[in-house]
Amino acid sequence: MDDLTVVQALAKTFDLELSDTEWTMLGQFLDLLAEANKRMNLTRIVDREQAWSRHVLDSLTLLPYIEAVEARHLLDLGTGGGFPGIPLAIVRPDLPVTLLEATGKKARYLAETVTTMGLENVTVLSERAETLGSPDGGGRGAWDVVTARAVGGMPVLLELALPMVTDGGLLLAIKGERAADEIEASAKALHILHATVETTARTPTGTIVAVRRAGPIPKIYPRRPGEPARAPIGGVPRDRR
Ligand code: SAH
Repeated sequence: MDDLTVVQALAKTFDLELSDTEWTMLGQFLDLLAEANKRMNLTRIVDREQAWSRHVLDSLTLLPYIEAVEARHLLDLGTGGGFPGIPLAIVRPDLPVTLLEATGKKARYLAETVTTMGLENVTVLSERAETLGSPDGGGRGAWDVVTARAVGGMPVLLELALPMVTDGGLLLAIKGERAADEIEASAKALHILHATVETTARTPTGTIVAVRRAGPIPKIYPRRPGEPARAPIGGVPRDRR
């Protein structure tokens, strides 16, 4: 079986049906990622089948959630090599997708990739979430869905992401097996930021945590760049760990 046959078989376990054009574009994106990965550190996954499963299909596990809430615009926080934002943008060309990536070099790679692939629904921002989501940052309350994979522990992610979610909107986080522990450690952050965990769902590759923003975000959040990760809300201070 060739690459695509294997992946299409795999996709069935994810309940995913895509057009030939979409499969081709997803494959083209993995080619561009592999090429750029020779120049910079974007992913540790070099095996093609693993890349399909742990990058592409894992990203697309968010699709049913995005469709269920009829998202009008989406921000992917900390896109890195492109996940989950680019696969989502490929299969939802009608949905405006903004990729937020703090590291300039990665943001330039993302912008080049978007241009090469002709993804007209995608915008790349090279900025920090703490800046974009601040009261005068231009991105406060601006997206009805914010996605994030592998961006900080849950309390950190909540502080970075929720200020950019519309009131009533959703944060969709892709987490690992320890999602329940992360949620438990997030009680204080959820309370302060007026949010609730709406769903926790295992997928073949991870755990999706859907967090609903249900009220105003206090003006002091997000704190200045670096502070959310240095001293997570409700976290144990570093020197006492
Ligand atoms: N989401 C990708 C990359 C995860 S690595 C994936 O799952 O494969 C985390 C990425 O988030 C890094 O590229 C890092 O530069 C970016 N990042 C971390 N903190 C950020 C912040 N405060 N604002 C914007 N981007 C951030």
